[in-house]
Amino acid sequence: MTDVTRATAAELGRLIGSGEVSAEEVTRAHLDRIAEVDDRVHAFLHVDAEGAIAAARAVDAARARGEQLGPLAGVPIAIKDVIATKGVPTTCASKILEGWRPPYDATIMERIHAAGMVMLGKTNMDEFAMGSSTEYSAYGVTRNPWDLDRIPGGSGGGSAAAVAAYEAPLAIGTDTGGSIRQPGAVTGTVGSKPTYGGTSRYGLVAFSSSLDTPGPVSRNVLDAALLHEVIGGHDPRDSTSIPAPVPPVVEAARRGATGDLTGVRLGLVREFTGEGAEPGVAAAVRDAIDALVKLGAEVVEVSCPHFEYALPAYYLIAPSEASSNLARFDSVRYGLRVGDDGQRSLEEVMSLTREAGFGPEVKRRIILGTYALSAGYYDAYYGQAQKVRTLITNDFKAAFEQVDVLVAPTTPFVAFPFGARTSDPYQMYLADLYTIPSNLYGGPAISVPAGLSGGMPVGLQIMAPTMADDRMYRVAAACETAIPTLTPPTLSGSNA
Ligand code: GLN
Repeated sequence: MTDVTRATAAELGRLIGSGEVSAEEVTRAHLDRIAEVDDRVHAFLHVDAEGAIAAARAVDAARARGEQLGPLAGVPIAIKDVIATKGVPTTCASKILEGWRPPYDATIMERIHAAGMVMLGKTNMDEFAMGSSTEYSAYGVTRNPWDLDRIPGGSGGGSAAAVAAYEAPLAIGTDTGGSIRQPGAVTGTVGSKPTYGGTSRYGLVAFSSSLDTPGPVSRNVLDAALLHEVIGGHDPRDSTSIPAPVPPVVEAARRGATGDLTGVRLGLVREFTGEGAEPGVAAAVRDAIDALVKLGAEVVEVSCPHFEYALPAYYLIAPSEASSNLARFDSVRYGLRVGDDGQRSLEEVMSLTREAGFGPEVKRRIILGTYALSAGYYDAYYGQAQKVRTLITNDFKAAFEQVDVLVAPTTPFVAFPFGARTSDPYQMYLADLYTIPSNLYGGPAISVPAGLSGGMPVGLQIMAPTMADDRMYRVAAACETAIPTLTPPTLSGSNA
């Protein structure tokens, strides 16, 4: 048997289903890989070896009983630590939740377990998913498997790095402003943000509730679509969940893999073709789009004049919602409690706990959001940002009357060295320049590998109308037939 950690999730599902390899063997191989490389990558905050082996054995036993297994049964998966996992530590990479073991599973976890998938553990992230480099984790940085001196993107850097380093074939990320796609782009993996409301937020620790969207991270498009089908679909426990079936994403990915895009219109966003991206990224994205044209696609330039206001609007809306959502970490209900000596007032204990428990970026967001929502400023900041959000949505709608999908770089720059953007928050926020518009609109968007710039991966972003996730997967899968796939370094031998 060749090394199963190099296989795709689809292949692993097939091999396990046919009994050529056991789920337990596959799980052990990935746990061994984690043991081999994760001291260098640090993708995981918590590895649940015991739970993983038990889950794998249950799949093998079901197969032995003659049960029909689903396409991802026995396939290992890594979960971003912002998703509630019953009995398994869930910290959001924050000191304030250290030691918290949720008493329940997120809806997407219930679905992952029901599909027979094997959770390997919880992955590192920027604290409460606020950041673009995973440097804001309270538990140390994650390293990019392509260059261990560089960031793996964020906030879901751990999930992307785990997949890129062959520690897991699949992972779950969450995307509020780009946290699935941007880490995908800079680690040479696929990061897919479903339509907002297409995947349940129940049990996802809330950052910005009108934007938060869980989704797949993988090494190829079909694997992302298979996972999307497992986790997607209506959930009555999430009030903004869309009461409709998952779009036929797997079928679309298979269709795209035939490499035919005849008649598909790609919208090139004029406002994103200017100075924004560094030259190597712009060149790789141009080459990728040329390759899609060779498959039969047509390129149409479209204008989305309000996209340039997406970043400032997001940095009012997301912190505003975060300031409200994070009020629940009050030293009473969850995790950390500091200074409760029986003498201090409740307010003092809350204040000491929040002072000690939250990192600087989270505090910055809470202060910003509280200010934007305060009486007298509400209309000027939060209200204006909501109006901009509507204008951006209208830009998308107008564009989709002319084209099927929009294409753009995923990020303006490749993975940067540690520390390069931590001193100036605005420089960090710029990482999401191209990903934020689709969050404000709510449509699906995916990042697929689009070659290298200076030896580091570049991502091509494909954005589609809401609930047209299948269209996005078709174009994304076609990309793989035209653009050479990226082989991440193996982290063995000279890489060690
Ligand atoms: N980097 C963005 C932020 O810091 C996006 C985060 C995310 O998508 N979770 O808010």
